[in-house]
Amino acid sequence: MVHWSPFVVSFKKRYPWVQLAGHAGNFQAGEYGRLLKRYCECEQQCLQKLMQDTLRPYVPGYYGVVKKDEQDYNLMDDLLADFDSPSIMDCKMGSRTYLEEELIKARERPRLRKDHPRYMQWRETLSSTATLGFRIEKADGTCSTNFKKTKQREQVMEVLKDFVDGNTHILGTYHVWRSLGSVLEQSHFFRMHEVVGSSLLFVHDASGKSRVWMIDFGKTVPLPDQQTLDHRSPWVEGNREDGYLWGLDNLIDIFSCMLSQ
Ligand code: ATP
Ligand code: MG
Ligand code: MG
Repeated sequence: MVHWSPFVVSFKKRYPWVQLAGHAGNFQAGEYGRLLKRYCECEQQCLQKLMQDTLRPYVPGYYGVVKKDEQDYNLMDDLLADFDSPSIMDCKMGSRTYLEEELIKARERPRLRKDHPRYMQWRETLSSTATLGFRIEKADGTCSTNFKKTKQREQVMEVLKDFVDGNTHILGTYHVWRSLGSVLEQSHFFRMHEVVGSSLLFVHDASGKSRVWMIDFGKTVPLPDQQTLDHRSPWVEGNREDGYLWGLDNLIDIFSCMLSQ
């Protein structure tokens, strides 16, 4: 008889995901396939609400706040735990990566240069944030792309092709996630929040398994009473539209084009 020990799980191969994080200092490996991200109240509020929302299967499971070496962290699932040497792509969604309140603060702060608000808007035009409603923050692959300047559709396609290593099967498995748009449209949470600086995390490994999750809710804020967003309308200051779904439509369209080539 084979005797299965419940401790086997703790011997699982540890993936050095920390090296891939944007701000590695913000993260700590946790136990049982979880990780700790430096505490941010905004993110805590969002993750808490998301655990009760229809979006729950699309975000990391959230387990509350923990303290380690005097620092608070949000404890969540390590989304790479079930993959073997995964390839990862972080796509920052939306047509702007600063909150309206940040723009207002930048205007009010006398110590900042007068043109800082304009600079914040100009910066978005360097990448595909303004033109496509998303930008690739990082992606595994061999091409040495400057992601901050990946702006055109064709450049995005090159990065995607490189990310899946030319494997059409993997590209096809990601295409399954094109239904995410309608899931988002049905989400209560999504309708009631300005979602800025949040990413879609694409993960696959050599076995052909792939998945897409929503991560990073440090700049996702609730709207005032009764206000809702369609996440597609163009942004004009005051309407708080973030272009998230417009960007997702564009991204899905690029995937479709690549698959039909
Ligand atoms: P920034 O605001 O600059 O984007 P951040 O400090 O808010 O960075 P995140 O964007 O949340 O950090 O995460 C950075 C990277 O860490 C992601 O691109 C991803 O590779 C990894 N990561 C984040 N959350 C998880 C998770 N739950 N499981 C696995 N990897 C994760
Ligand atoms: Mg991020
Ligand atoms: Mg962040």
